Amino acid sequence: MCSTDDELDLAELDAVRVYSLPMRTRFRGVTTRQGVLLSGPAGWGEFCPFEDYSDVDSAPWLRAALESCFESWPEPRRDAVPVNCTVPAVDPERAHRIVADSGCRTAKVKVAETGQPESADIERLVAVRAALGSSGAVRVDANAAWDIDTAVRRIRELDRAASGLEYVEQPCPTVPELAAVRRRVDVRIAVDESIRRAADPLRVAVAEAADVAVIKATPLGGVRRALRVAEACGLPCVVSSAVESSVGLAAQLALAGALPELPFACGLGTVALLEGDMVSDSLLPVNGWLPVPRRAPTPSPALVAAATPPAETQHRWLDRLRRVHDVMPRHDVEESE
Ligand SMILES: [Mg+2]
Repeated sequence: MCSTDDELDLAELDAVRVYSLPMRTRFRGVTTRQGVLLSGPAGWGEFCPFEDYSDVDSAPWLRAALESCFESWPEPRRDAVPVNCTVPAVDPERAHRIVADSGCRTAKVKVAETGQPESADIERLVAVRAALGSSGAVRVDANAAWDIDTAVRRIRELDRAASGLEYVEQPCPTVPELAAVRRRVDVRIAVDESIRRAADPLRVAVAEAADVAVIKATPLGGVRRALRVAEACGLPCVVSSAVESSVGLAAQLALAGALPELPFACGLGTVALLEGDMVSDSLLPVNGWLPVPRRAPTPSPALVAAATPPAETQHRWLDRLRRVHDVMPRHDVEESE
């Protein structure tokens, strides 16, 4: 078990615990989710940038974790948030079962999977609509797979198959492409990968390219900074997770709870993607809803012990934590922008 390291230069922290949890299903090419739980005077936080992120790209993730440890979150405007169920690129029978078993009124369906025929997306959407009934909402995520013409054609076909799509998430890679698609289809466009900073040019570009913004507290540097990005981008927002344990997910829920408007279900029902959790009372949706916590739940010492990886993995993460802390801007540059 790792304990606070005096040389860490994160001297105010009470505890530092490296964890490793298997994933139930492969996600972003990984089968294990790893990270570090940190404890400070305000509570627990989670630092879990993906393995392939640079130290600079990981700095906002550390900011988000330290915000949980040292600051309070903004006052919530709601007690609970609706979440979507997620339907991977599976066959129609399995898609139907995932939606029916979830209790959620919104389904997010993966489309444009490499190696699958276009008809597979159609059949999956028909099955999802049948499971949800006419009052549910169906959204699709293409993960930037299409060019402009393909996106326009597929969005129209999928919209018909689903008897109405709530929105299409990131149909194309770039903001100009999204804007071009948006001018030619009636379905809302959601921007995910393209939302990173609150700079003014992005605000203009995104306003023309999308109707909905997908935001995450972790890559945006915490709940308060993500709220500022939400305000600056001027679009209705959907909060989505980075597949954290319940400790890190709490910050995403705090963000969803604090947004002025929350017109769509959030992508926060993700703890079940992990084999296990770091807290005994996991943040798992009940009938498609999750509570908005005031602070992150406290990890269970037994679960932390069970998820502690070998010493080599611990040292790798503690090194990473130090390096990322070293490159983290000492002053809040966004404040002065
Ligand atoms: Mg997405």
